[in-house]
Amino acid sequence: MSTKTKENFEAKLSRKVRSISPSGIRKFFELTIGMDDVISLGVGEPDFVTPWHIREHAIFALEKGYTMYTSNYGLLSLREKIADYLEERYDISYSPKNQILVTVGVSEGFDIALRAVLDPGDQVLIPEPGYVSYIPLTVMAGGDPVSVPTRPENGFKLTPSLIEKHITPKTKVLILNYPCNPTGSTYTRDQLLDIAAVARKHDLIVISDEIYENLTYDSPHVCFSSLPGMLDRTVLLNGLSKSYAMTGWRIGYVASNEKFIEAMMKIHQYSILCAPILSQMAAEEAFVRGDKAMRQMTGEYNKRRKFIVREMNNLGLDCHMPEGAFYIFPSIRKTGLSSEEFCGRLLNEEKVAVVPGNAFGACGEGFIRCSYATSLDNLEEAVKKIEKFLRNK
Ligand code: PLP
Repeated sequence: MSTKTKENFEAKLSRKVRSISPSGIRKFFELTIGMDDVISLGVGEPDFVTPWHIREHAIFALEKGYTMYTSNYGLLSLREKIADYLEERYDISYSPKNQILVTVGVSEGFDIALRAVLDPGDQVLIPEPGYVSYIPLTVMAGGDPVSVPTRPENGFKLTPSLIEKHITPKTKVLILNYPCNPTGSTYTRDQLLDIAAVARKHDLIVISDEIYENLTYDSPHVCFSSLPGMLDRTVLLNGLSKSYAMTGWRIGYVASNEKFIEAMMKIHQYSILCAPILSQMAAEEAFVRGDKAMRQMTGEYNKRRKFIVREMNNLGLDCHMPEGAFYIFPSIRKTGLSSEEFCGRLLNEEKVAVVPGNAFGACGEGFIRCSYATSLDNLEEAVKKIEKFLRNK
């Protein structure tokens, strides 16, 4: 495209879209394109293939000719399984008929949740460092994102006083994500109860992204909507991408009060129609028989977590033990390099890809995110290369 044409088309883009910067992760990964032998600790997805019995179930469904639309809400049989799962696991009761909506991943769930509740000027509290989609999706939904920087001294966690410091009369939504991408931090029940009290006091809607709920290693996950008085106030987002190694199937769900679900449905039915039927059927199999494989994968992540945290600390890169997800977030401050310099040079000199912490918000500067959703062999190799990089720096 000629420069002139490019400029013309640029001017036709919506102001909102133009105001959004490309994801810092993507920007960084474009640098790796065309490079051979890169060890990537950059990707946020399981290195496992979806367990065979789940794939096989989808193959059978395809053979039987399940190729049509489903209800806009998703298959009722899947929604019933989601409701049973939430009831058994957290003792919370959602009606499969009108309080659960099957989405195209948590990504879609987040988008429609924000679009359903935000009016222009409404403020959304977004913990940082945080997942890269939250700010752009808030802007696209017409809201104003308000970053709430968390600190390493507090394990990168929100506290009631930190939240209250950022509340204004325009604050409408609080976003939670635990276990957290990128820090791996999660919350105890008592810590969540304190946050719930703030949500009640300031009448906030809580959008809780709990996609890493099953990747918790030290203590059981506490679901936000299971806390007293939080069921209706919470938009619970979850999905199968991470727990069941099903990122490419694009299946998630939203659970909330029927008014919120009805509002999200309005957007979902026109823009998405329904999640793909084969993926929904595969998700049913995951809910019914996927536990064993999921536990095995979590066990593997746990071994890698312990290895990589120990090695990073041995290398002098201070690294707290993440309680969940599959990321570590070590400090690189002692090297005197910025996050981007560190990652750029590590990639060019040793061909190891990690993500600069500032891709997850300004307070991530001085940190890097490394994913341990890769084999122990890869992690061992990466550690050797990082050691060499630090020695020669
Ligand atoms: N939320 C968080 C915190 C994530 O880390 C990711 C993916 O990396 C997503 C949501 C997207 O999930 P899905 O594949 O269900 O759209």
